[in-house]
Amino acid sequence: MIKQILLTFLMSCFLFQAQAANLAEVGFFVNDTNRSFLKTIHAQGKFIVDHPSSKGYEVYGPKGLKKWLTANSPVSFRSLSNSIDKRNSLLSYPSPEQIESRLIALQKKYPKILKLISIGKTETGRDLWVMKISDNVNVDEVEPEFKYVANMHGDEIVGRELMVSLIDELASKYSKNDQEITTLVNNTEIFIMPSLNPDGAAKRRRGNSNWRDLNRDFPDVERDARAFDFTENTTANRELETVAMMEFQNRRHFALSANFHGGTEVVNYPWDTKSSDFPYMNLVIDLSREYAASIPSMRDNREFIDGIVNGYDWYEINGGMQDWSYHWHNDLQVTIELSHSKWPSYSQVPGYYKKNRASLIKYMQRVHQGFGFKLDSPKKGRVTIKNFRGNSFQLLESLDFEGSEFYKVLAPGKYLIELESGSKKYSFEKEIRADDIKENGAFKSIQL
Ligand SMILES: [Zn+2]
Repeated sequence: MIKQILLTFLMSCFLFQAQAANLAEVGFFVNDTNRSFLKTIHAQGKFIVDHPSSKGYEVYGPKGLKKWLTANSPVSFRSLSNSIDKRNSLLSYPSPEQIESRLIALQKKYPKILKLISIGKTETGRDLWVMKISDNVNVDEVEPEFKYVANMHGDEIVGRELMVSLIDELASKYSKNDQEITTLVNNTEIFIMPSLNPDGAAKRRRGNSNWRDLNRDFPDVERDARAFDFTENTTANRELETVAMMEFQNRRHFALSANFHGGTEVVNYPWDTKSSDFPYMNLVIDLSREYAASIPSMRDNREFIDGIVNGYDWYEINGGMQDWSYHWHNDLQVTIELSHSKWPSYSQVPGYYKKNRASLIKYMQRVHQGFGFKLDSPKKGRVTIKNFRGNSFQLLESLDFEGSEFYKVLAPGKYLIELESGSKKYSFEKEIRADDIKENGAFKSIQL
């Protein structure tokens, strides 16, 4: 008998482990206005929570979720999939194939500054497209690298449309010698990915074709949502879309990025997965506030002060792309929620672009608010960043680097940068100013 109980216990442990917490087969809105039930949901370790507000929150999970909610929820809930009129809504938006055709057409029209790159295939074999935008676009230049990623949740569609419009605007303004855009494009390597989840977009579904939530599929800083590869930055057992993004990031040196979602209007800054202070809290708050400031509906969102929120304060997520990006790759990333409706009528898309475009461009320009160095040959080592406060330089962060190129975005101020590789050392001071693309965008050449 005891043996049997033990076996059952072990079996349930195993099942719990195998039950990845990134499955989003069904979704519900739980009317839990004071979040009293949230802890219980989180403790299950297999459900996904999104967009908590004063009205309640979304919960996603495997097919048994409805049964579990019926048995356990102290408040009412409703199915999210029932509210979707799939036929009508899918008709109004372009298909992934139509988006692909538009990107190909844009590249053909502006081959001098656009280069379309497939970074991999989805689980059903669709290409995952990224548009590179830069002068000398076929050359890998030593310039600050910037990235936008949209539509990793397939049913959050506005970001995908805004990215295509942004590529179009950057390219057409560059061709007309617009000074602001030309300066940005000439001094930056910009990568824009309209959709990380075209399979999900084709079906108006949060997850990919395997119903997996890609924003819970990345290696976690503290706790891996899928219970595989605990806090290891490995691609094993992850969805192909996640693997493609991980390998792409590994090949580049992104310093600043954002990923786009829908369901409310807010800029969410790191960390998402833990409460401890982010090393550059003032910087991420300033960047987030600046993005929201020029969008009245975001800035004045009654659920958030100034239209910004710390991820963990809002709701903890494990396996998200934002924290992974900074923790493993020194790529500062925020998560931007663009629209209250995840799938508004297609006729509203130009309005969303109009109110976001200035912030989209300003945020890209901010990648130049930093310092970089280029070594004569690839090396492994450590970079220590100290900030002048009071009357001395004080430690901000110490991190590993590998390769010959390093770039970091910082808040305006005076810094001391110390490099160490083997027995070799080098240090230099750097004054960081805002809004100074040319001067701050330069990489220092160093012989170590
Ligand atoms: Zn989302």
